[in-house]
Amino acid sequence: MKKVLVLEDESSIRSFIVINLRRAGYDVIEAESGEEALEKLKENSDVRVALLDIMLPGIDGFEVCRRIRASNSRIGIIMLTARSQEMDKVTGLMTGADDYVTKPFSPAELTARVDALMRRSGGLEEHSGEISQPPFLLNTRNRTLEKDGVRIKLTQVEYAIMKMFMENPGKALSREEILDLVWGRDYFGELKIVDVNIRRLRLKIEDNATNPTYITTVWGYGYKWGF
Ligand code: CA
Repeated sequence: MKKVLVLEDESSIRSFIVINLRRAGYDVIEAESGEEALEKLKENSDVRVALLDIMLPGIDGFEVCRRIRASNSRIGIIMLTARSQEMDKVTGLMTGADDYVTKPFSPAELTARVDALMRRSGGLEEHSGEISQPPFLLNTRNRTLEKDGVRIKLTQVEYAIMKMFMENPGKALSREEILDLVWGRDYFGELKIVDVNIRRLRLKIEDNATNPTYITTVWGYGYKWGF
């Protein structure tokens, strides 16, 4: 079952989201507060995507995101941000979200984002097994990454980026290509999401994230795996 959790305190916006997701075939669970969302996620371990509003009474959406990520790296997380709050997007992604949607959004945009994350957070099983590029070992069967034998926790998007890099060693990839490969061609978002996710990934995989040697920057173009 394709199960989605919607956390939004404004009931009119929440109904709009819920109605449209149900229409698109999703099984939807609703929450009005962060505390309620965390409680419902505990009871519904099969939720695959969570939509989190940021401004909430009680704990905010960033904190909810952080708490979900502390125990669950597989669930897809989309932050619902306000148009004026540009920084929210970056903060949200840095706390572990996979994507964001800016209010007001259309039903088509919303379902396209949820569909894209849903595709990544399950389904697509790999048959090949492992990609080994010391010190990294990517296991495509259980979607895990190890560095020097130590597991590194990745979100679904970070995993998809790592897989893309490790399948294309030494190749300069433009930010547009990365957006296409990782988020899909029907993605509505901005190129900045690529930079923010790579910044976060570097913090996890590089020896020194301020002087990256694995994911290197190709100035004015994009990124490359290795030198
Ligand atoms: Ca709100």
